[in-house]
Amino acid sequence: MSKKALFIDRDGTIILEPPVDLQVDSLEKLTFVPGAITALASIAKLDFELVLATNQDGLGTDSFPEADFHPAHNKFLQTLAGEGVVFDDQLIDRTFEHENAPTRKPRTGLFGKYLNGDYDLAHSFVIGDRITDIQLAKNLGAKGILLQPKEKGLAMLEQAGLQNSCALITGNWQEIAGFLRAEDRTATITRNTSETRIAVTLDLDGHGTSEITTGLGFFDHMLWQIVHHAGISLSVNVQGDLYVDEHHTIEDTGIALGEAILQALGSKRGIERYGYVLPMDECEALVLLDFGGRTDFQWDVPFNREKIGDVPTEMFSHFFKSFAQAARCNLHIVAKGENEHHKIEGVFKAFARALRMAVRRDAFSYELPSSKGIL
Ligand SMILES: [Mg+2]
Repeated sequence: MSKKALFIDRDGTIILEPPVDLQVDSLEKLTFVPGAITALASIAKLDFELVLATNQDGLGTDSFPEADFHPAHNKFLQTLAGEGVVFDDQLIDRTFEHENAPTRKPRTGLFGKYLNGDYDLAHSFVIGDRITDIQLAKNLGAKGILLQPKEKGLAMLEQAGLQNSCALITGNWQEIAGFLRAEDRTATITRNTSETRIAVTLDLDGHGTSEITTGLGFFDHMLWQIVHHAGISLSVNVQGDLYVDEHHTIEDTGIALGEAILQALGSKRGIERYGYVLPMDECEALVLLDFGGRTDFQWDVPFNREKIGDVPTEMFSHFFKSFAQAARCNLHIVAKGENEHHKIEGVFKAFARALRMAVRRDAFSYELPSSKGIL
């Protein structure tokens, strides 16, 4: 079930549909939709199989001889291949609309291979310019991406009652590439033991609401620093054995947060690897962070008090160590200063800023930030 596919329409989506006869039957009629090649070149690096899915009315009949189709189609394929875009499969239906053939989009007669359970269709997409492309997405159990100006596309969807089958309406291919990249930077972790019950939801790209409840006021305050300064959405709900002490609540939250980050980072393609240093009044806090896949934790933050708020100071290092082990990162933290509250708040802020920089993704590089080719 791990394979995902992008089923991409050709005419009106990758190349312009000629007015009047809607038939690309000569080289003169071959014109690419602006932005399509650049966007497809970046999409081709994602973990999707690329499947061309197109209706070519009457192909092979007198109204559209094979000899008229192939020169333009081959030039289309060659041009894309030159930019690294190679289709894994081509599904070309040759029937006319009035024949109502089971092979004609939006029907799924040509899609058998994708319907036998090997493909994760719920995370696959159909990209096209017509409402039948969105209907196809629905019929496949996938999601549609409608290449139309937003208002026009919305009207098309409402008229057909297909709003729930469409994940994105846009007239802009670059937005499609950005959208497909932005998938899967979320994580949901549920961690239940005899000591704690923890639910964490995380969105590294920050489109959601945040909610923090750990039962420890000062710890909540520190986790909010991560939300604000990392620019992420994070909900943490912990029911811990606070009648024993704070230890399990803080340790297990660190583990769950680390697991959530690791899961949300996914392949880690396109991310940065960073650290951050900042002052907080008389204190300074330095956090070095690397999601390189190996774990190392260094901590040099001396405290002169046993507790800050309701959190024992020894638990801060334990929190970050638990995080580093679960997220498989290098995490080095050094801080100094007079005021204990400033010192630890500076650490959480610097950690959040380092996190923000480290998980930031360049939508158009999408390389692994490693000379070894793996993180
Ligand atoms: Mg089309």
